[in-house]
Amino acid sequence: MTSLKSGKVQSLVESVEKIPAISEGEIACYADSISRTASNLLPTSLDPATVSNVLFGNNLKFLCRMDSRRTCAGCCDDFTQERDVLERKYRWRKKAYKEIVRDSSDLTLYKTQVRKKEVFSQKCPYVAFLDERERSVGCLLHPKNPANRGIDRRNYGIYGSGLCSAYVCSAIKTLEKAKLSDRLLILHIIESSDNWYHYSRLFSPSVSHSYHRGLVEIYLHYCAQDNNSLPTTYNHHC
Ligand code: SF4
Ligand code: SF4
Repeated sequence: MTSLKSGKVQSLVESVEKIPAISEGEIACYADSISRTASNLLPTSLDPATVSNVLFGNNLKFLCRMDSRRTCAGCCDDFTQERDVLERKYRWRKKAYKEIVRDSSDLTLYKTQVRKKEVFSQKCPYVAFLDERERSVGCLLHPKNPANRGIDRRNYGIYGSGLCSAYVCSAIKTLEKAKLSDRLLILHIIESSDNWYHYSRLFSPSVSHSYHRGLVEIYLHYCAQDNNSLPTTYNHHC
């Protein structure tokens, strides 16, 4: 496996520091991931089958829900918002869904209540915490949400079940085409992103609004560049 050359490590870290969409905490975490990639180390805290899948697999859709700590809602909501704002919202929605929805006929009432509370939001009202410990985020209407007893209710969402089940974000598509050393870098970043908020930001097209690319794609852009310059469009975005 080819590794990152040491000069490129420094250059990549410097490039990441210039990305306006990334927080200071994320920069520190990604700089660490870049260093570990340079040493050709494999992530130690991830399931070996998952590691192998991310490095060699052709179908990476499983990354939407990689494990209990790494779940993504990046295409269902706006992840430029602060973590505590989303946290309060997902907590409230989970509780409301549990209290209001007994069967599909209650979904209109649930949606009305959400819209009343979140007056300025046009995003889908059905993304929320899915577990009591608030570790996982996802779709309340999904058949795998125990509250739905296997019924797929995503037709009640703003896009419809067909679109929601078939959608694959461009971050995943880009990663599926990436070379091995670049996938290793993303794997280290995934390992460091062990909470729903940072994990979703890796893939969410909302993070780089005008470009509709997840942070994964931005990192891969740098990996593919010899000079690591910022994409020109990015300079106008801050
Ligand atoms: S943004 Fe990508 S990884 Fe996240 S839920 Fe959507 S399709 Fe899955
Ligand atoms: S219905 Fe679709 S858009 Fe809405 S939360 Fe579920 S998967 Fe996301």
